[in-house]
Amino acid sequence: MERDYKKWASGLIKGKVLFDAPMRQFTSMQVGGPADSLFFPRDVNELKKVVRYARRKKIPLLILGRGTNLVVRDRGVRGWVISLAQGMKKIQMDGEVVDAEAGLSLQRLIQFSVQKGLTGLEPFFGIPGTVGGGLAMNAGAWGSELKDVLLSVTLMKEDGEILEKSRSKLRFSYRGLAIPSSWIILKGRFKLKTGKREEILERVRSYSEMRKKRQPLDYPSAGSVFKNPEEGPAGKWIEEAGLKGFRIGRAMVSERHANFIINLGKAKAEEVIRLMEFVEKKVYEGKGISLEREVKVVGES
Ligand SMILES: Cc1cc2nc3c(=O)[nH]c(=O)nc-3n(C[C@H](O)[C@H](O)[C@H](O)COP(=O)(O)OP(=O)(O)OC[C@H]3O[C@@H](n4cnc5c(N)ncnc54)[C@H](O)[C@@H]3O)c2cc1C
Repeated sequence: MERDYKKWASGLIKGKVLFDAPMRQFTSMQVGGPADSLFFPRDVNELKKVVRYARRKKIPLLILGRGTNLVVRDRGVRGWVISLAQGMKKIQMDGEVVDAEAGLSLQRLIQFSVQKGLTGLEPFFGIPGTVGGGLAMNAGAWGSELKDVLLSVTLMKEDGEILEKSRSKLRFSYRGLAIPSSWIILKGRFKLKTGKREEILERVRSYSEMRKKRQPLDYPSAGSVFKNPEEGPAGKWIEEAGLKGFRIGRAMVSERHANFIINLGKAKAEEVIRLMEFVEKKVYEGKGISLEREVKVVGES
């Protein structure tokens, strides 16, 4: 039965299918147990096949970008995980308008725009996710958000229907985009501006330097753990609670940036999650501030 299932699921698409896929290898935090099945569709048609089948059989789906904003629990993910990061990475340009498929890395999109002398994406240099993950999270840095340079998003519904929505029809928020959880982002259309290549490159370099100074990039992490509350940066409140360097097992609040939890090596998801809860409790007790999570915790506990 098990062998039959694997044979059948592998035959569903030409792209790769992994079973009991260790999610620590597919997430930047490098924690978490296996996903039952992990599909890498090669194009929209293959994606549609997987999505429709899952719907018919009521199999839960999780869309994975580069896993840079995810903490997967230790027992892993039941159901199917779909990664667009191997097959759906095309990029096209028409004047100042750039179309990028969801599986393309944001870094690649930025490199492309620099090469073409297009400006607008520089602040996002160093955000390690995909275009799809960036739009789903409305990723941002240095006062800019991805939605600021967006014209439209192409989406797939759970029945495989594809639709394009202009930015004005989409509800973006701070680190979020309100779409039904079963919808998949296929593509973003961005409106950039013509600029001077050397100047664009210079801005990219300076954002990159600022990032290196402030973020603990030499350890696995999922970026900022908490959203910045109205009262000010989350990192400031965590630092004031005396939590820099605080550890649970192999998970530690970064000494460099208190809003980062880093994996010192072989951390368990449970340690990361307990540390998140501890930080929430201490900041609430000390300052009366409720921190809201930016990272998404997924999987079976
Ligand atoms: C070192 C470091 C620095 C970071 N710096 C920043 C920063 O400056 N600013 C910032 O905003 N973030 C930052 N992040 C967090 C993270 O990189 C962003 O949130 C990024 O946009 C997530 O993209 P991803 O492809 O990795 O998405 P994932 O982590 O794989 O997924 C995130 C969420 O998006 C959903 N999703 C992914 N792809 C799709 C899709 N195609 N359709 C529908 N839903 C989808 C997932 O289901 C999940 O809910 C940082 C992370 C790290 C590790």
